[in-house]
Amino acid sequence: MAANWKMNKTVREAQEYTAALLPRAADAEGVEVAVFAPFTCLSEVARMAEDSPIIAGAQNLYFEDSGAFTGEVSVPMLQDVGVGAAIVGHSERRELFCEDDDVVARKAARVVEARILPVICVGETKEEREASPDGMWEKVSGQVRRVMEELDNPGGGSLVFAYEPIWAIGTGETATPEDAQDAIGRIRDLLKEIGGDDFAEGVRILYGGSVKPDNVGEIMAQRDVDGALVGGASLELESFAQLVEAAQRTVRSDG
Ligand code: PEP
Repeated sequence: MAANWKMNKTVREAQEYTAALLPRAADAEGVEVAVFAPFTCLSEVARMAEDSPIIAGAQNLYFEDSGAFTGEVSVPMLQDVGVGAAIVGHSERRELFCEDDDVVARKAARVVEARILPVICVGETKEEREASPDGMWEKVSGQVRRVMEELDNPGGGSLVFAYEPIWAIGTGETATPEDAQDAIGRIRDLLKEIGGDDFAEGVRILYGGSVKPDNVGEIMAQRDVDGALVGGASLELESFAQLVEAAQRTVRSDG
């Protein structure tokens, strides 16, 4: 269960949230919890989360290690503060900051090489979905293939994809559980075609887009959905803790 705080929270707010989340995450056996914090409070979240079940994650990074790249943060810098995961290719980065598939693929490769867990986001706009009978898949399969081309024989467990239909992010309009399963099941099938069954079963694939405590259960119940990447509903500690607890109920009911 992954919280994406986006451009929210001061250091003090991040400390208070993390302190309150730590015991709730510790109780959620079998659920991996990640908090993707802004750079300004990331080292503090990582310090507090050390030796805990919470993974401190970055929302972005640059694929070069150092140099004249004003405003960017590199993988060694993230490693220096104890970051364990990074979002790569969030649709807001792709759409607002012009990140194309090549840049996203290079970022994903650098993160995997550093043994940081990437959360690679893919998804289509409403226009792309409606442009042709299989508009969703034309976009999403291309995004997945381009990332996979750049990776050097990764283990399935070293990768996380997040299917995030752009029309459902921050809009309150959630994809139906069947839409989520359709896209995520097809991503898993494509990964099988590329890397084989064991590889594809090892990759965790999340759903993201207006996930909340009252809809997470039916989304998590879908066969190929391994978790959720959550923006708005992760900002309040209580709501995110409820999502973590809901994920644990799914893990329990799966046996
Ligand atoms: C996101 O930012 O990845 C996201 C899914 O946001 P929201 O939950 O607010 O739709």
